[in-house]
Order: sequence, then structure tokens, then C-alpha cells
Amino acid sequence: MTYCPHCGWPDAQPFQVVSRHRTTEGQTVWSRCSCGSLQVRVVDGACTRVVARGRPAAMF
Ligand SMILES: [Zn+2]
Repeated sequence: MTYCPHCGWPDAQPFQVVSRHRTTEGQTVWSRCSCGSLQVRVVDGACTRVVARGRPAAMF
């Protein structure tokens, strides 16, 4: 299990799902962490992996 390096939120539990897209690899899920960083994860069957992670948002 991996955790957000910015706030320690577990990657297995997306704080907020922004959008989902179906791709040839499976499903790409954009989610926002509790610290405001955007994550891109690929859901492939039962397996989820974070493929990209943004920085915490300074302001919204
Ligand atoms: Zn975070």
C-alpha cells in the first residue's frame, strides 16, 4: 500500500474522484487528495496503481 507523500492519505482510498475515463488499459481515474494534489490512477481489474501525482494546491 502506498500513501500520499504530501499528507499521508492512503492511495487505496481516493479522497475525491474528479473524473473517470475508460481506456484500452482499463480505467483511468483522476482523483484529488485531501491535501489538494491531483492523482491519476489506472484501475486494471482489482489492481489500482497511481501513475501520476500532482503537488498540493496552494489555493483554490
Ligand atoms: Zn495528499
